[in-house]
Amino acid sequence: MTILLIATRNRHKAREIQAILPDTFDCRTLADFPDAPAVVEDAPDFAGNASKKAVALARWLLQRGSASAWPPGSRLFVLADDSGLEVDALGGAPGVHSARFAALDAAPTGGGSPARNAGNSADAANNAKLLRLLATVPRDQRTAQFRCVLALVQAHPPPPSAEAEIRLFEGVCEGHIEFAPRGQSGFGYDPLFVPTGHARTFAELGETVKNRLSHRACALGKLKAWLVQREPQQ
Ligand code: IMP
Repeated sequence: MTILLIATRNRHKAREIQAILPDTFDCRTLADFPDAPAVVEDAPDFAGNASKKAVALARWLLQRGSASAWPPGSRLFVLADDSGLEVDALGGAPGVHSARFAALDAAPTGGGSPARNAGNSADAANNAKLLRLLATVPRDQRTAQFRCVLALVQAHPPPPSAEAEIRLFEGVCEGHIEFAPRGQSGFGYDPLFVPTGHARTFAELGETVKNRLSHRACALGKLKAWLVQREPQQ
């Protein structure tokens, strides 16, 4: 059996990941590990943050010896997602700062990149800031993409020994940013993002359609193929 510990406290993300992966993977979330350490997301890119989260949690699991609590012969991996929206007219912003885009205005200066999970902003505030910055940008220049990087790290003995043990899977979903929010489903920038080939926002298209098209679905498809290929033979 393959057990995946999904290293996110974002319940929307955890739910999407669980909905996209087949039942043959036993998915757990951080709700099962309330004492897991919080990881500061201060890397300059999605891959860096996803790797940092996955490695920290895998090390923590191995140190506390929890691997012995899993069914014998099972494979345990930590899976971390780092994702965000890149808007072309804004030079790729908000990018790694997607979760705290609005709060960046108020962040104290002092060098270094701001830690992302301290002080995330409300989705409505992030969306309002994005609309404000794009107010004069015409439709044909409102192109954007969601990007998701998944990092997978082994957490069953023997412990991961080198960086080579981190597997990265990337997914991109292209589209454009609307002029006003529409729809109730999803989270984050979903009410503003219309995927290419569609007329409705992710928040209007709903979970089932989003989970076929999204950046996360694309990255999870690659991860699934990799895991299935390496399934131990019975
Ligand atoms: P993270 O949890 O630190 O990776 O932050 C990701 C942020 O990017 C979220 O808080 C959202 O603002 C945005 N984001 C990532 N994926 C999605 C998505 O599927 N829909 C809408 N917003 C997303």
